[in-house]
Amino acid sequence: MSSLQIIPLFSGSSGNATLIKADDYCFLIDAGRNCKQVTIALEAVGVSPDQIKALFITHSHHDHLDALDVFVRKHPVSVFATEYTHRAIARKCTKPHPMSPDIEIVPGEAVDLSEDLSVYCCETPHDARGSVCYKIRYKDKSCMVMTDLGEVTDDIKRMAFQVDGILIEANYDQKMLVYGPYPEDLKARVAGRYGHLSNDDSAEMIRQLIENGTRKFILGHLSINNNTREKARATVTSYLKGYGYEEGRDYYLDIANRYEPTKALEI
Ligand SMILES: [Zn+2]
Ligand SMILES: [Zn+2]
Repeated sequence: MSSLQIIPLFSGSSGNATLIKADDYCFLIDAGRNCKQVTIALEAVGVSPDQIKALFITHSHHDHLDALDVFVRKHPVSVFATEYTHRAIARKCTKPHPMSPDIEIVPGEAVDLSEDLSVYCCETPHDARGSVCYKIRYKDKSCMVMTDLGEVTDDIKRMAFQVDGILIEANYDQKMLVYGPYPEDLKARVAGRYGHLSNDDSAEMIRQLIENGTRKFILGHLSINNNTREKARATVTSYLKGYGYEEGRDYYLDIANRYEPTKALEI
């Protein structure tokens, strides 16, 4: 039996990195926080940083690439990102990384990491140019990592429907954002078309995913100021209950930890 796993190492505006394991092939989606934290998290799940064979970056916000500069110097790997994200990375990095080739990805085209393992990306509406989300296909299984998007576009739905499992953003609770500490312009940015998915947005997308065959979900990128694990879970499970879907019976749901690895989601 082959194995495909999503293992969020940490998740949220404080930093994001997700380990994808396709049997022995390990790669990361995003490298937030710092190299030491990524290393500690990898070792906690039994993976040495030298086993990481590639780095896929979703977009140029610091919570997705703060660890990259040092990580690729210590553990050279190919860095996959869109043209605009590569440009932003180059501006933020202190030195070029000749041992870690920059590989430009184009939304809609597949990157074949091995005969059985491919990664696809799709543009996401977010306030960083060149933002994407990723889908991974390994043998007969598929999964997706979808965070940092203001809305779920039709292109993203086409890519996401029928994946077996997904790490999906549930960034904020609508009431907590409205009554919370952020200035009005920042509230508007978070809730806007190029911001983040709310718990309600995530619940509706999960409903559509369930109707198209997905059964395994991890909620991620929760805001530290405008959300709680309890609110995210309650919003999603009660919304789905309204459509007759019971957690445990019809789907599996977990919440990604902010600062430490989350239990592996076996796809
Ligand atoms: Zn982010
Ligand atoms: Zn972002």
